[in-house]
Amino acid sequence: MNPELTYLKAYPESIQAQVKLLIQNQKLGEFLRKKYPVLHEVRTDKALYVYVQDIKTNNMRNGEQISKIMYDNKLHVISNALGTHTYVSRIQGNKLKSKHEIRISSLFKQVPEEFLKMIVVHELAHLKEKDHDKAFYKLCSYMEPNYHQYELDLRLYLTQVEIFGAGEGIWNAQKIS
Ligand SMILES: [Zn+2]
Repeated sequence: MNPELTYLKAYPESIQAQVKLLIQNQKLGEFLRKKYPVLHEVRTDKALYVYVQDIKTNNMRNGEQISKIMYDNKLHVISNALGTHTYVSRIQGNKLKSKHEIRISSLFKQVPEEFLKMIVVHELAHLKEKDHDKAFYKLCSYMEPNYHQYELDLRLYLTQVEIFGAGEGIWNAQKIS
């Protein structure tokens, strides 16, 4: 198996090689589950709204208002040839110019809190910084000091889903109805 690692193209060859090894040994899912054992409980749009507003209140003074915050099951992250931030640019595609809407792929309903935090921080940072530039990542890291680590690990998870499918959810054992 020689997977493409579409989500990891921007990372060094040494990291990609390690990930390929984990995939070949069918250990990537286990690796992620051990590192992030617990799923978050932010399962509804209402809970997501509170979760996002909390992070915003704690980190952004006089940030712009967000008119809508929701999970969106039409935002599929997988199955495309990806650049560095396809899932995010799709989200931006749904954003009205004067009104900020944050749509998070429903895929994030069943992930560890760290991954949800990362994507929420990313979207909140876009309220102030449109581009993925230095100022943008500085703001992300301010809101979540482990931002870069979580982004890498989220990308590992997306890689896992792309190769093995979401049906083989690696946290399935914990699934609560
Ligand atoms: Zn972005």
